[in-house]
Amino acid sequence: MASGLKRLSRFFAPLRKFKPNAETSSSELLTNYGYLRQSSSGVYNMLPLGNLVQSRIESIIRNRLDEVDCAETSLCTLASTKIWKASGRLQTGTEFFMLEDGKYLLAPTNEEEVTSMVAELSSYKQVPLRLYQISRKYRNEKRPRGGLLRGREFTMKDLYSFDETMNDAMTTYRDIQGAYNRIFEDIGIDFEVAEADSGSIGGSLSHEYHYESDAGEDLVVKCTSSSCDYTANTERAVSTAADTSVKIGLADAAVKFYALDETLPSKSEKSLTVYAAIFPAGRSINPHLLKGHSAVQGSELAEISADSVSKMSATILPLIDTRVEYELSKNREQLTTIITSLIEPDNSNHSKYSVVEAVQAPIVEVQTGETCPSCHSAPLKIVPAIEVGHTFYLGTKYSEPLNARITTQSTGKMEPLYMGCYGIGVSRLISAIAEKTRDSDGLAWPKSVTPFDAVIVANSEADALKIHQHLSTHNIRAVWDDRSTQFGVLLANARATGFPLAIIAGRSYTQTGQLEIQLRNKPAKSHPPTLVSLDDLGPTAHHMLQTYSPA
Ligand SMILES: [Zn+2]
Repeated sequence: MASGLKRLSRFFAPLRKFKPNAETSSSELLTNYGYLRQSSSGVYNMLPLGNLVQSRIESIIRNRLDEVDCAETSLCTLASTKIWKASGRLQTGTEFFMLEDGKYLLAPTNEEEVTSMVAELSSYKQVPLRLYQISRKYRNEKRPRGGLLRGREFTMKDLYSFDETMNDAMTTYRDIQGAYNRIFEDIGIDFEVAEADSGSIGGSLSHEYHYESDAGEDLVVKCTSSSCDYTANTERAVSTAADTSVKIGLADAAVKFYALDETLPSKSEKSLTVYAAIFPAGRSINPHLLKGHSAVQGSELAEISADSVSKMSATILPLIDTRVEYELSKNREQLTTIITSLIEPDNSNHSKYSVVEAVQAPIVEVQTGETCPSCHSAPLKIVPAIEVGHTFYLGTKYSEPLNARITTQSTGKMEPLYMGCYGIGVSRLISAIAEKTRDSDGLAWPKSVTPFDAVIVANSEADALKIHQHLSTHNIRAVWDDRSTQFGVLLANARATGFPLAIIAGRSYTQTGQLEIQLRNKPAKSHPPTLVSLDDLGPTAHHMLQTYSPA
């Protein structure tokens, strides 16, 4: 054991009779090649090989976060529901694992915990603070799927930043974005940064980090021009018609009515604003674009029927999609007639509503082929993607209710801290990377996260030892596959398990002392192995590894 030779038989990666093909899912590959075991739906045990991949991802993250002054912490998993009530999220969230009659929940994220922890700060001299942890999180997914892509228990890196001013918080946001770019560059797989709607976590500035993949559940909108980097998630994305000279007539447009959710309980009592969305029939309204319009003041919109509008005392504000023809002087009267006939089909004229001047804006979901809002020339495309990271500017959303305040330099008064939160799905990344790099032969890890750089295929322990020694003097981390004596089985597994290099002491080694080096990113059939003597093995393998990337 003093030799340091590692054996795959000690890694609990039992050999299975399994033949991968191009359609095999990444979770099947990870399960069959000794990385992962399912415990129950959405819950997985990480086997030693999987754990090695995970710890390599974690060290990339730690290195890059430490460079931008982040400090690692470790927050509790049993979260008190008291603070989740104070932030308002206990009332609105649904996917919690609750314990002890609602006294605790298993933390799915830690904004509440970390904010109430830093509430003991009192002065601007004590910030900025950038605290992160890498830990298991819990979410009661109703339909877990895709192995580690969407589980009930998962490992996440979550980072929380605390600053004195909004400006400082923006500096932090950009610093962390820089670190995120370096993390994903270190991993070495092409990624997309998408402008994102901030969703239920709140705040007004957020970005998502995605891997384009057919296995992904998210959709990302991208500009097809190579000189334009517009990328957004579908909620945030805006487009214009491919041909703006062709418009849909008002009479052919569809109409839907919306009101601010919070005003609805008292709808019969008082006057309220109803938004009439007018858009091309057959398209879908993007509620985020609708509620994001400056004419709409509120957080949640609810669709209401034309019939219920007729019973209200309402001001109707028409929001007309830009694809619909509308000119104030020409179409105003026609618009009022259309809306009126929907609300009062029998012309009963009992309601007390009025239709005010319309505004025009893009309000429907993006379609492939429509024009990019950034370069205004190239068409957009919609691609499936796996979300692997997310950054949010939070402002004072949590620091206000949880009372995390400091005396500021400018006012001398106690003011709430400005926050950001930043996630990376660590266990999800294992599946996402596997998905991005695998081929019909099985897994193919990038050198950044591979559990070992090389696998040694040799029948005798003495040979394996010698090979291992030569590799380790060149800092190549190798493992000996001692799980079988059948060369064919070992070669197939060397390839499917995904190590960048396979060092094979086969017939040519016995006869002429020549070892074979096989590269995982080259097709085995058409690409003959490189032959080297034991003395040349280290430098040659080192060089091959330096230029290695999965095909
Ligand atoms: Zn563009």
